Amino acid sequence: MRACPTLTAYGRHYLAPPRTLVSLTTFTSLHRHNSAPFLNLSLFTAFRSPFSRMETGTGSTGNKAMVENLKRFGVISSKKVAEVMEALDRGLFVPVGSSAYADTPLPIGYNATISAPHMHATCLQLLEDKLQPGMRALDVGSGTGYLTGCFALMVGAEGRVVGVDHIPELVDMSIKNVEKSVAGSLLQKGSLSLHVGDGRKGWEEFAPYDAIHVGAAASEVPLALLDQLKPGGRMVIPVGTYFQELKVIDKSEDGSIKTRTETSVRYVPLTSRVEQTGGF
Ligand code: SAH
Repeated sequence: MRACPTLTAYGRHYLAPPRTLVSLTTFTSLHRHNSAPFLNLSLFTAFRSPFSRMETGTGSTGNKAMVENLKRFGVISSKKVAEVMEALDRGLFVPVGSSAYADTPLPIGYNATISAPHMHATCLQLLEDKLQPGMRALDVGSGTGYLTGCFALMVGAEGRVVGVDHIPELVDMSIKNVEKSVAGSLLQKGSLSLHVGDGRKGWEEFAPYDAIHVGAAASEVPLALLDQLKPGGRMVIPVGTYFQELKVIDKSEDGSIKTRTETSVRYVPLTSRVEQTGGF
């Protein structure tokens, strides 16, 4: 069996599926179903992670087992990312009763989802060099606050992490989630903050950022985000509508931009609040 370097989630252990079908992260109609709705889509099921339906236990035991699985399947190779994901209990960020530690996206209300653990791990690894202690990061479409919390643990108390989501109820929920977690003290100290806003405009207050992550698919890369990326910084952003690609955008010290495609993905759209909620 040939190892596949391009498959985001399980590349080291599986033959490469077509690039357009890999790395299921979020699915726009998740909210219409109660559990793992994309399982109905045979198109996608073939490329789900081997443990996408496997519950790994509860509480910190479940979380630890989830991280072990991500390591075992080659998704996590970074020690730091493993430590951070092990420290931040995903179970505190998902709706009560959902399969917190299975490798699957989960509905969180408001037509949004928390991405699958393999996708969070992938984005953390892509951004790891720009999430060193003391650095600044922006998480657009922060949703549950899980990944924003991971960023905060990476950069530590000397760093600055900002999460932005345009649904006020999700921002409230994310603050409560973070407060319950090990990242709570960083929220208290002010090195992590979560705000309501249109993430397409970024968050000027703490710009420029070493790392920018966008958790929803943009039809094109918002210029404000490119502007707020520090020279030497990196942005990870899904781009596209139905067919989407996870782009890795590096801004060099002279300000020039280099973009590459990491893999194909499926995220909810980066859009207006009205579009997302149907006006509710
Ligand atoms: N990364 C998060 C959530 C992913 S879902 C997690 O894993 O928990 C995508 C999120 O993007 C949703 O919470 C949605 O409300 C948000 N979103 C979509 N368009 C946005 C916009 N224009 N500005 C801010 N947030 C947006």
